[in-house]
Amino acid sequence: MIDSCSQESSPLLSVEAALARIKGAIHPVAGSEKVVLKNALGRVLSESVYSPINIPHERNSAMDGYALSSNSINREQPFTLSLAGTSWAGNSFKEKLQPGQCIRVFTGAVLPDQADSVIMQEQVRADGQAIHFPANAPARQNIREIGEDIMRGSVLCSHPKKLNAIDLGLLASAGIYELAVKRPVKIAFFSTGDELTPVGQPLQPGKIYDSNRYSLSGLLADASHSVTDMGVIADNKQLLEDCLITAAKNHDVIITTGGASVGEADYVREILARCGEVNFWKIAIKPGKPLAFGKIGCSYFFGLPGNPVSTIVTYQHFVAPALKQLSGAPEAKSLQLKATCTSDLKKAPGRQEFQRGILMQDENGDFFAVSSGRQGANILSSLSRANCYIVLPAECNGVQAGDKVRVELILDAEII
Ligand code: AMP
Ligand code: MG
Repeated sequence: MIDSCSQESSPLLSVEAALARIKGAIHPVAGSEKVVLKNALGRVLSESVYSPINIPHERNSAMDGYALSSNSINREQPFTLSLAGTSWAGNSFKEKLQPGQCIRVFTGAVLPDQADSVIMQEQVRADGQAIHFPANAPARQNIREIGEDIMRGSVLCSHPKKLNAIDLGLLASAGIYELAVKRPVKIAFFSTGDELTPVGQPLQPGKIYDSNRYSLSGLLADASHSVTDMGVIADNKQLLEDCLITAAKNHDVIITTGGASVGEADYVREILARCGEVNFWKIAIKPGKPLAFGKIGCSYFFGLPGNPVSTIVTYQHFVAPALKQLSGAPEAKSLQLKATCTSDLKKAPGRQEFQRGILMQDENGDFFAVSSGRQGANILSSLSRANCYIVLPAECNGVQAGDKVRVELILDAEII
């Protein structure tokens, strides 16, 4: 594929081909470690976890009401039983339920073996110790049976699930205290560019603030990552090379931003070619064409383009899936929706574009997308305003209002 927007004639790799190359090159981290449950959020299981107990592990009431044995009554008629006691959650009735008796029970209270039915308190009239039940009170209801949720020995969470808050609750309900998870992926990242100034310092003429390191540190925040921020490195070949070689010694992944295009001071690809292996360095996407992928020593290397929107788009579409694969988490497809585009979108054929958009849903559940503003690779404000990418295939030559487009949600964006 030739990029019609570029003077260069070397072919650009399609998004699919680049993703396939990344997938083919990456091997998940091998090590695992033990963590206590409260530190397991966002970690990837390295072994499946089985339940050591039945859940529930004792028969108990699903309702506040009265427990009885349906064997000792004729349910077709109203009937009266005498109250023998109360079973509370955590403080159960320990005696045997005799014929003609019932007990008061609360949700979660363990039931005597003889009780097979709980009648809701709303259906019952209590008169001292005499409890009056209506005709046709439902039998064998409102009881939580042993193991009806989880049977002892059955799987609670399968390897290699990435644990979420719900999983932590499930594992806690089985009393799991500690579990085996994949070790975190060790990631180093830095910005390159003589013009970059860290926030907190005054801006001198010709300089700009380094925004990419802030976007990246936010994007990299994940319990399965162990992240080293190496700061800003000047456009100096020797310095860059030293930093890359140092980082490669103890990180699985190195991510840089800037210096990956073909400008005079763009040394990243040259250093990668000399000190490591270049897998690819140009992709048919917009924004983000000069994305380098390769290896330095045992580390995977991603050289992201410096323009702030390009950094984020290439991170989300190429680095994030690679990190997921490295962490050992299962592959997952991102949610894609079809929406009606309500604005014209300019596009030349040649590269797949990720245009910034705002996705809305109407009262019928139909989706509509509109451009969130100017689309230059330096215009971070329109990405901050956006909640979706409008994904335009390489061959597309523009969109007219009313056309259907494919959209992807950005991070945990909300639809308006
Ligand atoms: P480069 O890829 O180094 O040629 O940079 C492309 C554009 O992105 C230039 O306008 C840079 O000034 C800008 N840029 C590079 N790195 C950063 C950064 N960390 N934060 C903000 N802008 C950057
Ligand atoms: Mg630069």
